[in-house]
Amino acid sequence: AVVLDRIHKQFGDLVVVRDVSLTVARGEVVAIIGPSGSGKSTLLRCINLLERADSGRVEVVGRAVEPGAGVAGRDLAALRRSVGMVFQSFNLFPHMTVLRNVSLPQERVLGRSRAEADARSRQLLERVGLAAKADTYPSRCSGGQQQRVAIARALALDPEVMLFDEPTSALDPELGLEVLAVMRELAADGMTMVVVTHEIHFAADVADRVVVMADGAVLEEGTPEQVLRSPSTERARRFLSAVV
Ligand code: ATP
Ligand code: MG
Repeated sequence: AVVLDRIHKQFGDLVVVRDVSLTVARGEVVAIIGPSGSGKSTLLRCINLLERADSGRVEVVGRAVEPGAGVAGRDLAALRRSVGMVFQSFNLFPHMTVLRNVSLPQERVLGRSRAEADARSRQLLERVGLAAKADTYPSRCSGGQQQRVAIARALALDPEVMLFDEPTSALDPELGLEVLAVMRELAADGMTMVVVTHEIHFAADVADRVVVMADGAVLEEGTPEQVLRSPSTERARRFLSAVV
């Protein structure tokens, strides 16, 4: 579903992603872990073109973007629409109800009618355990609830891939668990997911594959079993012993 082919990204002289290739199959869950500053968020942002790689090729469900090739307008919109993203900060609209937060983007982006969008929103709020909060404002929701609204909002655009950038790191552990539970269900339902996370247990239980990044490069890649239990590099071993 997602192909990253020799992605290179630098800011000025600072090389942040060096020659990273990664393929995520349809229905696969890939966890990306690694020390702070290793380029995880930047790599993730290259997938939905929030960040444009300096070189390398990005392909999302058959739509390819070559470096330098001007993707604009419809193609860019189509590629972005097929990728849902959930950030550490929930970024909900504070002046809109939970329901409206989920339904408005469907009207704007997909052209759904208000009735259609509301119906789909209620379905998704049910799915993330928030049916009762539909008419509440975000400020009256816990952080875990807000993050689940953000997930519902992303799912409402019918993405083919979901990207998560440390979705629980701003939450108390208990609230983080609610969010991780929703993500587990999504994974079980067959959603293609790329998850940058510090939650090693989540990576161990849910990911099909774990990628360890350090200094902009992929250091290790394999099943959770392989990578978390018996990393092959000293650098990965050091990182893992610090977080487990
Ligand atoms: P963390 O675990 O702390 O979120 P990360 O692995 O996600 O770290 P990135 O956010 O991808 O790391 O950042 C990698 C490096 O790129 C860092 O040194 C960061 O300061 C730098 N960087 C990121 N975005 C920019 C930018 N827009 N301009 C300049 N430097 C940037
Ligand atoms: Mg990051």
